[in-house]
Amino acid sequence: MTMRHSGIGMTSSRTRQRMIDRLRDQGIRDEGVLAAMYEVPRHLFVDEALASRAYDDVSLPINYEQTISQPYIVARMIEVLRASTTRPIKRVLEIGTGCGYQAAVLAHVFPEVYTMERIEPLYQRASNKLRDLKIENVTVRYADGSAGLPESGPFDGIILAAAAPEMSAVLRGQLAAGGRMVLPVGRQEQWLYLVERTEQGFRESKLEPVKFVPLLMGKA
Ligand code: SAH
Repeated sequence: MTMRHSGIGMTSSRTRQRMIDRLRDQGIRDEGVLAAMYEVPRHLFVDEALASRAYDDVSLPINYEQTISQPYIVARMIEVLRASTTRPIKRVLEIGTGCGYQAAVLAHVFPEVYTMERIEPLYQRASNKLRDLKIENVTVRYADGSAGLPESGPFDGIILAAAAPEMSAVLRGQLAAGGRMVLPVGRQEQWLYLVERTEQGFRESKLEPVKFVPLLMGKA
């Protein structure tokens, strides 16, 4: 991997290992998630000027008033999706591609990933990045993700990278039986929720307080 965009030492295995050690300290236990986060070159998804901070536990700006989520929350949401005991999680939908980082991590742990972005230049850039990195099991769509992607569903997992104002009936309707959705809900005060589709209906669990950019309507 080239060092040209990253500054001396940035991509070193020590830098990445420090992030993994920190994720363990923060309570992430899923070795598959930790391995994927070690593998995916996070510094290549942010601007050159921010690359030296790419492995810190912070969200960083990716332009258009959007941010790449902090490593902890990416790991946590994927860990919750993978904790399914009812159904193997194979086909996953992400809403809010942003720079494509979380989609790349998802692609390491799930066979089939769809991701949707409403801001065209972010969609373009993320598509190019995933192609350059030869990540081939992600389909990127330029569309308003609040309607989901019914033509490619139902999904075993759905993950939102932007906070919905309220629980979305449309999106949970695109879950397969036994499937699960992880999403931030709320405006000022936001909580991470897990929604499981059971035989009888849906089960919701409130997990932890979070801070995400809002889910917005329409394309931009
Ligand atoms: N997963 C991303 C984080 C992106 S931040 C990453 O790894 O970088 C959230 C993203 O959700 C932003 O890019 C924002 O434009 C997008 N977004 C917000 N509302 C959306 C909607 N209705 N449909 C699709 N994308 C949306």
